[in-house]
Amino acid sequence: MGDVNELRKAFYDFHPEVRHVLAACPSVHKCALIDRNPQSHWSKGNITLLGDACHPMTPYMAQGAAMAIEDAAVLSRCLQGVDRNGVAGAFRRFEATRKQRTSRVQLNSRTNTWLRERTDPDWVYGYDAWNELLAACEAA
Ligand SMILES: Cc1cc2nc3c(=O)[nH]c(=O)nc-3n(C[C@H](O)[C@H](O)[C@H](O)COP(=O)(O)OP(=O)(O)OC[C@H]3O[C@@H](n4cnc5c(N)ncnc54)[C@H](O)[C@@H]3O)c2cc1C
Repeated sequence: MGDVNELRKAFYDFHPEVRHVLAACPSVHKCALIDRNPQSHWSKGNITLLGDACHPMTPYMAQGAAMAIEDAAVLSRCLQGVDRNGVAGAFRRFEATRKQRTSRVQLNSRTNTWLRERTDPDWVYGYDAWNELLAACEAA
């Protein structure tokens, strides 16, 4: 359980609309934010992970769900036209296509500095999961 007065105190000099919202809160919850270092593997045989299961991140870049959705799009592309014998290879291809990006977002998000200074955000928002080059196809 959180302390609503502690929360209101932390926002005491924010815009009145923010303070009105907090004044209307009867109670608040407090929960830990837990992330992980980038994982070495997401897949084993015909099993793979996506989203928070393999790259949980702090919410400071608001990208956790976005990464999960991108994963889903890329995974569907990797599985397209693949029969059951090719599933393990498709999962490895999915992982190889996605890991560099999700790791970068994970590690940046944890610094809690995103957009605090002028920066080109295109590497985050300009990614096109439907057209991103897939990693070289691996043998199953
Ligand atoms: C405070 C906060 C703010 C955030 N803000 C943003 C934001 O602005 N933008 C953004 O992109 N992301 C944001 N995120 C991150 C986002 O919520 C997560 O990254 C996203 O929900 C991950 O999706 P997922 O499908 O991987 O996992 P989840 O959403 O956790 O889905 C996993 C599902 O599996 C279910 N489940 C678990 N165990 C089992 C089981 N044994 N059997 C069956 N079902 C099971 C769970 O109930 C859950 O429904 C935020 C997160 C937090 C904590």
